[in-house]
Amino acid sequence: MSDIIRLLPDAVANQIAAGEVIQRPSSAIKELMENSIDAGSERVQVVVKDAGKTFMQVNDNGKGMSELDARMCFERHATSKIKQADDLFAISTMGFRGEALASIASVAMVELKSRMVGAEIGTSITISGSKVESQEQVACQEGTSITVKNLFYNVPARRNFLKSNTAETRHIVEEFQRLAIAHPEKSFTLIQDGVQVFQLVPGTLKQRIAGIYGNGYNERIVPVQEDTTILSLDGFVAKPEFARKTRGEQYIFVNRRFIRSSYINHAVTEAFESMLPAGTFPTYFLFIEIEPSKIDINIHPTKTEIKFEDERSVYAIIRAAVKRALGKFSITPSLDFDQETSFNIPVSMYATTPKMPEVRVDRSYNPFKMENHPSNSKGWERLYPEQKNEVQWRPSAPLESEPTARVRVLGQIENKFIITASSDGLMVIDQRRAHERILFERHEKKISQPGGASQQELFPKTFEFPADDVTMIQEIQADLRKLGIDLREFGGNTYVLNGVPEGAVAGQEKEMIDSILESVKNQSASFKEKPLENLLKSMVSGMAMQYGTALTKIEQEHLVDELFKCSTPELNPYGKPVYTLINSSELEKRFRGINHQNHQA
Ligand code: ADP
Ligand code: MG
Repeated sequence: MSDIIRLLPDAVANQIAAGEVIQRPSSAIKELMENSIDAGSERVQVVVKDAGKTFMQVNDNGKGMSELDARMCFERHATSKIKQADDLFAISTMGFRGEALASIASVAMVELKSRMVGAEIGTSITISGSKVESQEQVACQEGTSITVKNLFYNVPARRNFLKSNTAETRHIVEEFQRLAIAHPEKSFTLIQDGVQVFQLVPGTLKQRIAGIYGNGYNERIVPVQEDTTILSLDGFVAKPEFARKTRGEQYIFVNRRFIRSSYINHAVTEAFESMLPAGTFPTYFLFIEIEPSKIDINIHPTKTEIKFEDERSVYAIIRAAVKRALGKFSITPSLDFDQETSFNIPVSMYATTPKMPEVRVDRSYNPFKMENHPSNSKGWERLYPEQKNEVQWRPSAPLESEPTARVRVLGQIENKFIITASSDGLMVIDQRRAHERILFERHEKKISQPGGASQQELFPKTFEFPADDVTMIQEIQADLRKLGIDLREFGGNTYVLNGVPEGAVAGQEKEMIDSILESVKNQSASFKEKPLENLLKSMVSGMAMQYGTALTKIEQEHLVDELFKCSTPELNPYGKPVYTLINSSELEKRFRGINHQNHQA
């Protein structure tokens, strides 16, 4: 049993940019979890209360600390992980600066209990504001337990700077997830105010992702794998149709360390090309293994940035590998696989981008079509029930308020726009925005009628949500019910959907709820002012038909009719134009030229 911690020489200490390590509860959680991982633990348990503000505890079954180490670990630049400056460039542990525990102990009340594997007895130390208050021998489990109470108790300015419990909890969950994803072979537990939010058992990366985000992810993700002389790449990307409206689920690990890189993100996004729906971001979990000498990790404690020596090759490899993974697994089977074998990238390969198989998406898939939902009693038809047996062609009734409303539907282009002719010229209507406007006004009315918003589901569906979504659902549950979305806790992360707003499309409920949650995640000041209206907006945008929905002539006409019954047909709920008019004089101009020179033509 030997003591292993030594002080860094000053020269090294200076080479290490010190800086502020602990900014919020989640930074402490991250440091403590990293220490547990570095100590070879197989199990790491995290307990927080009050978003970590009053209580955080990390328990592990790692190698533990000797009596002297237990005391030494709180010294600044005390580390067992590097001995000299050169080691900095070949770091395999998460921590190495030896300042995390010292920093935490200077701004909180800390209690450490640790017993080395094989030791008879353990050590307990309490320290607050850098002052050791007690040290004694105790009987405790093998491994280490560190409790951090009342963070920033002696730094009121920092305490006041902390955000709401929801926001701080979200940071903690983020750090927890990053480390849990980076180490699927270990077990991780997170207990929040007495509730076990995560219990992740050891397994494969895929199992870990499903453990965090729900079993639905098993079908959503496809593996990415590439071995080159420069780097090796491993992990998963989600198929394009599962792209999210926020950047939340984008993970890049370099040598198992979570990093942010807009450069790599760009390479991945490029690989998706036009497959991503507008305004969405791909989901990915990518692990890059690369020789430490070929990268420069910014060792500022709170930064997670990185530079690659051979940037352009890294970019090309990642883009190609992701592209191939998508082509191979996700969309159409009729691909040519001339890129099947891994390619080793020679020293200079900059200009040659490998030819990739083309990927096609069925954009004409129509979720509203009855045949897609044999058991569907709702859907498009439900939206316009009274029109079911109409004849093929029927000029729309004139509407008093809107002169352009006397329109004749000509057809659809790209399953995206509806082209109509009016006495004034051509009107091009964005079908999705039109649908959003119609739904918005319809449900706006419903909310004001007591009890009229929801319709009971005959066969309630259950949905599993990631933990951070659950926190959010609890916050907005009451408002959701006003909108007609009756979502009840079912136990764990599972919710049962008892009622949906009228007009919600069967099979698309999850999209509707996800759309709402995304918007809450991105909530702005204006969101807080009018939460219900904003929830309504995101709800209808989750309910509205997607671009690519093929509509029959009758459906197109009904959509146009309904649109011009709205009080504000020209804008969707987010203020974007619903239609554009190309009037006769504009058409004249195009055919006859601006100067009307060829008037006779
Ligand atoms: P660093 O991780 O950069 O070395 P820290 O301040 O985080 O610095 O930790 C200081 C030292 O305390 C570590 O090098 C390690 O030897 C010891 N230590 C900290 N946490 C644990 C733990 N959970 N199990 C075993 N040893 C630990
Ligand atoms: Mg550390």
